[in-house]
Amino acid sequence: MDAEAKVLPSGVGEPAILDGAIVIGAGAAGLAVAHALAKAGVTTQILEREQRLAEPWHRRHDNLHLNTHRDLSSLPGVSFPAGTPAFPHRSTVIRHLNEFAETHRLPITLGIEVEEIEFRGDHWLLRTSEGLKTARYVVIATGRDRQPFIPAWKGMEDFSGKIIHSADFGKANDYAGRKVLVVGAGNSGFDALNHLSRAETDQMWLSARNGPSLLPKRIGQIAVHRFSPVMANLPTRLADAIMAATQRLVFGDLTTYGLPPAPSGGASRLGSDYTAIAADDGAVEAIKAGRVIIVPQLREFRRDDVVLDNGQAIAPDIVIAATGYRTGLETMLGRLGVLDTRGVPLFNGAANDPKLPGLWFTGMRPSIRGCFANARIQGAAIARKIAGQKR
Ligand SMILES: Cc1cc2nc3c(=O)[nH]c(=O)nc-3n(C[C@H](O)[C@H](O)[C@H](O)COP(=O)(O)OP(=O)(O)OC[C@H]3O[C@@H](n4cnc5c(N)ncnc54)[C@H](O)[C@@H]3O)c2cc1C
Repeated sequence: MDAEAKVLPSGVGEPAILDGAIVIGAGAAGLAVAHALAKAGVTTQILEREQRLAEPWHRRHDNLHLNTHRDLSSLPGVSFPAGTPAFPHRSTVIRHLNEFAETHRLPITLGIEVEEIEFRGDHWLLRTSEGLKTARYVVIATGRDRQPFIPAWKGMEDFSGKIIHSADFGKANDYAGRKVLVVGAGNSGFDALNHLSRAETDQMWLSARNGPSLLPKRIGQIAVHRFSPVMANLPTRLADAIMAATQRLVFGDLTTYGLPPAPSGGASRLGSDYTAIAADDGAVEAIKAGRVIIVPQLREFRRDDVVLDNGQAIAPDIVIAATGYRTGLETMLGRLGVLDTRGVPLFNGAANDPKLPGLWFTGMRPSIRGCFANARIQGAAIARKIAGQKR
């Protein structure tokens, strides 16, 4: 589409305005807000670009189980089947999202991608792969991990080994006999190491710029995530202190293995740089056993090796960039000035911008509770606001 074709005078050629909400994205966040809106009596449509629900969960690696507990990872009115393990497999999440949509008969149109949205004073104009749509309210629920992000490292094009993003992890057994470098000591980096710690790999390294806020998945038989609702209600500094103390008690001082200290507390980082809390399920044992060596930040790639910040060179066969995700919202929203420098919306959940009435975001920040509980809370809060404005 050329630039000129994008500018339509208000109202000309537009379809009738939906006196309700269009939700963009049918993941957990989009489904939860649509359900809450429908319950509050707001006419709602959900537009989903994929041809089936839960596509991000379909694409995730085979070994993936939730880090969040079953009882805190369901959407309203639908529960997991009896016998679901404490940390459900991704296939259970796929079934759950489909069941939720069916149970509540949510009005989802699949296969429509929203390309750009514009504010038209009293309504929103959406340019989609299927033409124009208009609505009084728009809720953006396109996910905070929409686009895998790999930094532009010097020399990476010429590297003779393989570089993949953690989103393409595949199966742990595929790494048998291989030397693996995981870059990034966050949630995805520890998820990869948790799985690799059970595979017959050759040497592994973890390149860490910052130490993580790291909690065990379980202490004895107790799933640590069960405490998240309590933690979420504590003052941030107290939650930081409890997490740091738990980390120290369970794992000891990981800086002795070369892991840098975390720049700030786990609860603080959720709100400041949107870093999720990492979960250990075998990685720390592998670090302590010397199967994973912690090395400094990656400086550059050469043909046959990787140079680290301290000048040391290592020669992995595979580099897993556990370097996070981006929202990828610049094209859709760039003109509105609602994104920070990393593409994260400036407001989320019940907050909005009075200069852009009717625009809402959900699911754009990590939370101690996890994305499902957060989707419920934010969905209900947005629905209350929209229903309140319509009265
Ligand atoms: C490897 C991994 C493991 C995770 N494990 C956990 C966990 O254990 N517990 C937990 O709580 N969270 C976990 N998360 C985070 C969780 O996946 C996300 O926070 C969650 O999926 C967010 O749901 P969502 O609805 O916000 O986004 P998504 O599930 O990403 O859904 C967004 C939807 O929007 C659609 N969409 C995007 N752009 C458009 C567009 N332009 N037009 C129309 N539709 C569009 C997408 O196709 C998608 O269906 C994990 C994330 C990753 C990457």
